[in-house]
Amino acid sequence: MKLYRPFPRSTVSQNFGANANALYASQGLKGHTSTDFVVPCGTPLPNCAEGLCYSVLNKDNPDLSKYRAAYFLVESDKDLFEVSYGHLGEIHCEPGKTYPVGAIIGTTSNTGDVYSYGEKVTKHRPGCPGGHLHGPQIRPVRRVTKRTKGKRYLETGTGVLKQAGAYYEVLDQDNGYAGCVDPEPFFVGELPKAKPAPVTFKRDLDLRKSGEDVRELQRYLNRQGFLVTKSGPGAPGLETDYFGTLTRAAVAQFQRANGIMPTAGYFGPKTRAVINSRILASAQGGEPTNPMEKISIAGTGTYVLLISLVLNLAGIEPEPGSIEALVNGTVAATGLILMILGQLKRADLKWGLLRKD
Ligand SMILES: [Zn+2]
Repeated sequence: MKLYRPFPRSTVSQNFGANANALYASQGLKGHTSTDFVVPCGTPLPNCAEGLCYSVLNKDNPDLSKYRAAYFLVESDKDLFEVSYGHLGEIHCEPGKTYPVGAIIGTTSNTGDVYSYGEKVTKHRPGCPGGHLHGPQIRPVRRVTKRTKGKRYLETGTGVLKQAGAYYEVLDQDNGYAGCVDPEPFFVGELPKAKPAPVTFKRDLDLRKSGEDVRELQRYLNRQGFLVTKSGPGAPGLETDYFGTLTRAAVAQFQRANGIMPTAGYFGPKTRAVINSRILASAQGGEPTNPMEKISIAGTGTYVLLISLVLNLAGIEPEPGSIEALVNGTVAATGLILMILGQLKRADLKWGLLRKD
């Protein structure tokens, strides 16, 4: 199987098999079943291996505490794998279709059970605490024509997967990782950063208009802090395709903040031109809209990086090796880390220090 790493190795927060703790033990697992990558929520997720999307989970479920995921069958010369991606926000793949490497199959988010600073996340948006990609998670499977009692088979939302008369048996369900294996040895390289074509607005919008461009407009307004609403339909992550009074109020807010007259919330040529030009400018390598894009954290060196970053912000250049010594040594590192986390909070940087999933 030709599997690509979706994001840089430096963004890995948790490896396969990590954290053999009570959380995983309670699920009957020996440890983490894939690799976690910490990237900003909403980051386009490139497909890591060419394969058939056979199932998607909770794609249209507005409850963000439910795990959104996409599942693929990836076949190589002699092997067959299930490859899946979890905690997704948007899902752009459809069961029954085959996707090449690099196709954008969704966006990252924090749906399902995620942890931030060791605490279970209960508010899934906005801010997206604990957001990360769980995956690609890989499970070796094989095609069989008959099911055997006690064996585990791949399932879709509606039951056991059956294609052309075949079922897909998980080869080693009882390996302590629900049949999953470490993806790391399979990675043949890293995918270049996905650059989706910028979406610009083509028509005027006002009350009672509907369409995907309305959803895109709501997303833009929410991302820029002109919240359509704080919760429910229209809130970040729950954008809708309907232009109602809430959308109009958010457009009006945007107009006031940007000196566009009149400020009645009508999305016409003037407002469109302003937003379109900003979208195009940011697509051409302007300022990233999310500060997280400037930051990455390494798995084992998380604390070292955190400390380095804060010292950098403070303009202090530490002696080479001193931070590692501090972290590894017997110095009261905990207090320092707490202090640093406080600093980070003040700097309004949002991290997920992930202990699980
Ligand atoms: Zn994970």
